Amino acid sequence: MTFLWPTSQMGMLHPGAETPEARDRAAEFRQMAAHSRAGVTYHDMKGLFVPLSTSAVETRVAAFAELGLLYGRGPTVPVVLTPVGEQLSSLMGSGAFSPTKAVQATALLTWALSNCQINRARSPGSPRITEIERTACDVRPYLTAWSIMLDLDSMLYMHEFLGPVRQLQKVADYDECVREIRAARASGQVFPNPQSGAATSLANASIYWRSRLSVAGQLLNFDSAEQRLKFAPGGESIVEAVIEAQGGMGANLGALRAKHWTDVDDYFKTAGAACSAEIAGTIVDALATPIVPPGGVASGAPASGDLSTSEGQRRYRLQRQIERRSWVSREAKRINATQHNGHVACEACDFTHADPAMMDAHHKDPLASGIRQTKVSDLLILCPTCHRRAHRTTDVLAPMTIVELRQWVETGRP
Ligand SMILES: [Zn+2]
Ligand SMILES: [Zn+2]
Repeated sequence: MTFLWPTSQMGMLHPGAETPEARDRAAEFRQMAAHSRAGVTYHDMKGLFVPLSTSAVETRVAAFAELGLLYGRGPTVPVVLTPVGEQLSSLMGSGAFSPTKAVQATALLTWALSNCQINRARSPGSPRITEIERTACDVRPYLTAWSIMLDLDSMLYMHEFLGPVRQLQKVADYDECVREIRAARASGQVFPNPQSGAATSLANASIYWRSRLSVAGQLLNFDSAEQRLKFAPGGESIVEAVIEAQGGMGANLGALRAKHWTDVDDYFKTAGAACSAEIAGTIVDALATPIVPPGGVASGAPASGDLSTSEGQRRYRLQRQIERRSWVSREAKRINATQHNGHVACEACDFTHADPAMMDAHHKDPLASGIRQTKVSDLLILCPTCHRRAHRTTDVLAPMTIVELRQWVETGRP
C-alpha cells in the first residue's frame, strides 16, 4: 500500500516570509478566516475570491485543511475555522508584521503541521479512505521528518527525504530508518529516487517539498546546490519545543504517533488543536536562547571563570537539548540494556528498569563537544533521581561527575 504525504500545492502560507507567494497565501487565509467567522459555506466561499477560479479556491481550502487551520465539512455548511486557525488569524491581525510576530507565526505553523497526518480526512466529494488506510500508518509525517533531522546532525538531503523518510509509516521503524540513513551517509551512498524520470522528478520534488517542510523557508533553509535542508536559526528550538509539547522526551517516540479518528470533525479536533499558552510560552522561551553554531562552543565565548548568567543558561539549555536528542539517547540505553540482561541500569545507583523510557541519558560534558557531534559514549545513563541530583549544583555548567554521584549514593543520598 502506498500512502501519499499530505501536500496540495506549492508555496506554504507565511505572513512574514520573503516570498510573495507565501504572503499571498497568508492574505488569502486571513480573508477565508473572516468569511468563515461570518458563516460562509464551502460552496459560497468559491465565489468570493474573484480573480481565482473555483477549483483554485478548492485547492486553497485543501491546503489550509492540511495545516488544520480550517476545513469544509460539506458544500452547504459554513467552513470551520479551527482553534489553531483562530490563533494564526488573530496573530496576523491587520497591521504590520513584526519580526517577533513572524517567529510566532513560524512556531504556530510548525505546531499546526506537526498535527498533520498521512491518513487524514479527505475534502468533501473525494473518496472515503478505507479502515486499513485510516489505521495502517501511525506516524505524523512532518514531526517525524523534523525529528529525524534532529537525529541526523540537523540536516536532511532530498534523496533521503524522498527515499526512506517519505516511506516511513511506522513509529516502530523509526530507529531503523535513522540507522539506514546514517549508514548511507558514512558510505557515500545516495538513495535512488523511487519515482521514474529521476532527474526532473528530484528537482520538482525538492521545489514541491521544501516549502512545506521548511515552513516557507522560515523553519528550515534549503541549499539548492547540495539539495539539502538545514534548520534556520531558532528552528531546532521550535521543533524541540513542539516534540516536547506533544509528549516526547528522551526515549519516548510517542510524540510522533498519529491519532486515530472516526470522521472529519473528529480528525480536525486533533489536527486543528490550539497551541496552548504553555506550549507557546515554551516556544517563546526556547527562541530567546540562541543555539550554538556547528563545531560546538560559540566563537568569542567567555572563559568558564566569567560566564554570565545568560551564557550559563544557554549552555544548560544546550545540555538539555543534547539529552533530549532521541536517537543517540535510545542507542545509549540499548547498549546499556545489553549489559544488564535487557534492563536499563542507572550507572550511579544500579537501579534497573525494563522500560527504557523510565531512565534518562545525561551528557557528561556538553562543553567539550558540539551539539552535532554527540556520541553514545558521551552519555551517562541515570535514573531520574540521580539525574536530578547531577544537575542540582550551584554551577549549572558543572553537573556532578559519575564519581561524585556514586559517592552521594554510597553515603546514603544526603
Ligand atoms: Zn540512580
Ligand atoms: Zn543531565
